[in-house]
Amino acid sequence: MKIMVFIKQVPGTDNVKMNPETGTMVRTGSNNVINPLDENALEEALSIKRQVQDAVVTAISMGPLSARKALNEAIALGADAGVLLSSRAFAGSDTIATARVLSAAVRKLGGADLVLCGERATDGETGQTGPMIAEMLGLPVITFVKRIQMNGDRAVVERMVENGFERVEVPFPFLATVIKDINEPSFPTLAGKLRAGKAEVPVWGPVELGLDNGKLGLAGSPTRVVKVFSPKLARNTRLLKQDGSGQAVRELLKVLREKEVI
Ligand SMILES: Cc1cc2nc3c(=O)[nH]c(=O)nc-3n(C[C@H](O)[C@H](O)[C@H](O)COP(=O)(O)OP(=O)(O)OC[C@H]3O[C@@H](n4cnc5c(N)ncnc54)[C@H](O)[C@@H]3O)c2cc1C
Repeated sequence: MKIMVFIKQVPGTDNVKMNPETGTMVRTGSNNVINPLDENALEEALSIKRQVQDAVVTAISMGPLSARKALNEAIALGADAGVLLSSRAFAGSDTIATARVLSAAVRKLGGADLVLCGERATDGETGQTGPMIAEMLGLPVITFVKRIQMNGDRAVVERMVENGFERVEVPFPFLATVIKDINEPSFPTLAGKLRAGKAEVPVWGPVELGLDNGKLGLAGSPTRVVKVFSPKLARNTRLLKQDGSGQAVRELLKVLREKEVI
């Protein structure tokens, strides 16, 4: 069974800063970590690997050469291999251009039985990349996954919904985006770290992936960011006391109408 896990390197959460002049995220700095939900995705892949025979887990990341560190960590945690997708041509990619590169890597690796992603990344936080990869690979996608149970050539998957969870049965191959509740990520072992130190992580660019430069990076990104800013939180609270007369409800409706909410 071929399991592929997408791992994004993100700034440590207390390290996310915005440039007030350009309105862009400051991505420099050494405090980069594996996106927390991607650690859950990897842990799930490793748990499935322990349950089925001949499973191979490959961690894949698109990012600068420094993202190799995230892949080494994934190998130290138990992944069999890592692939880094890195090229100047990828700079400025929006989610669709990112998904194009990530899905091309799965194709180059001969396809997957299971693709795992985090539900969202802590920096961009769109939650779009996983479903886009699934669409590009023609795979069914299950989002917000909190449990994957193996059942022969199928899996029984539980996904969070607003008021509880849904249980879905799905044949392989499919793509799942996972949430925090799915598991507790483990720590690397010394043996894992030694293996990671020796592992060769190939770096693939557009040529290796067979991708046209016009569909990559800024040129291949339909999204245009007009402005990015940190919102200022301001609350104006008014308390309407219920006294059984219905006055509070009337007042509330009046306020909502004034503000054109209803
Ligand atoms: C116009 C534009 C230009 C941009 N330019 C840049 C840029 O120059 N450099 C830059 O770093 N970002 C850039 N970004 C941000 C970049 O598009 C997003 O970081 C990326 O598309 C992933 O989106 P997200 O963070 O919302 O991930 P989400 O969709 O929230 O992530 C969900 C999951 O997808 C997987 N995933 C997402 N991205 C990756 C990845 N790179 N590698 C492996 N797995 C991944 C992970 O499993 C992750 O948990 C740009 C965005 C826009 C709109």
